[in-house]
Amino acid sequence: MVSALCDVCKIRPASIYQPHTGRKLCRECFIKDIRSRIINEINKWKMIDPGDNILLGLSGGKDSYVLLEVLSEIYKPSRLFAVSIVEGIPRYNREEDINRMKIFAKDRGVDVIVTSIREYVGHSLYEIVERALKRGVGVSPCTYCGILRRRILNFYARIYGASKVATAHNLDDEAQTAVVNILRGDYVGLLRLHPLAPPASKKLVRRIKPLRKIYEWETTTYTYIKGFGFQETECMFISMMPTLRARVREALYELEWKKPGSLLRIIETLDMLLENEAKRLTTGILKNCRICGEPTSPKRKLCKLCELLREAGILEAVYQVPHLRVRSFYSEEEI
Ligand SMILES: [Zn+2]
Ligand SMILES: [Zn+2]
Repeated sequence: MVSALCDVCKIRPASIYQPHTGRKLCRECFIKDIRSRIINEINKWKMIDPGDNILLGLSGGKDSYVLLEVLSEIYKPSRLFAVSIVEGIPRYNREEDINRMKIFAKDRGVDVIVTSIREYVGHSLYEIVERALKRGVGVSPCTYCGILRRRILNFYARIYGASKVATAHNLDDEAQTAVVNILRGDYVGLLRLHPLAPPASKKLVRRIKPLRKIYEWETTTYTYIKGFGFQETECMFISMMPTLRARVREALYELEWKKPGSLLRIIETLDMLLENEAKRLTTGILKNCRICGEPTSPKRKLCKLCELLREAGILEAVYQVPHLRVRSFYSEEEI
């Protein structure tokens, strides 16, 4: 039988069991635990330097709310701004979900720019996937979506002068990506996941992932305790996730269930093993794509995005965002 009191404060009744620590926590101590683990992770890898202007990539899901809340509490909200990308997937990113997030962010002093995949390349994700399927291209919608989202966030970070891009990837996401990279033998990809890895090119703004040690069930519990409403609609393309990733995801869930703390140990071990090697990675070795001018590996003529869009039969990608209002982050005395 579960004892009634929280293992940390020993005052309030426990209501959450945390399998990886074996502790029973009250709601208050649970929130404190998540918050302090996020702050520790930020400090451990010096993710934020004084004076950083940080772009937050927000999807509107539970992880986004946790990222936005914690960062706006521990850092100057005036130096944070958020970009939310409407992918263009039927029944997903409803207007009410986006408006709810905008209000949540505004209440914390953070502006949200809402943009879309269509605004950047002239086509919605659904249209891109439809065209690719018609042409028999065996590329998962998640691959298009992931590359486009990364590109758009980096684009906004550059034009608005952000020094960091913070994303809300959680521990489950990070462990899955790490294991997929290992299974593919992609050593450089694995190294680039390390929090100390520098960006591969000067055109790429450094990415930080403050939630990388927080389990997905923990961000879900956090948002429920805090009563944040968030987008719960599942993406219609979820069943078309790349096969390897789907298998890894399933296997890791099972492993974590049988041996709690497994995901955390995978990431902690990789952090230690790869630290020195990751620091030695260099910036600026990439070439520019012949179509869009964005960085691509020295062996390629086109970047992955241009290549994928061409395969889908999209030759007229726009790559620009109309009506850009370039905002300065610096107050008068700094200029
Ligand atoms: Zn407690
Ligand atoms: Zn390109």
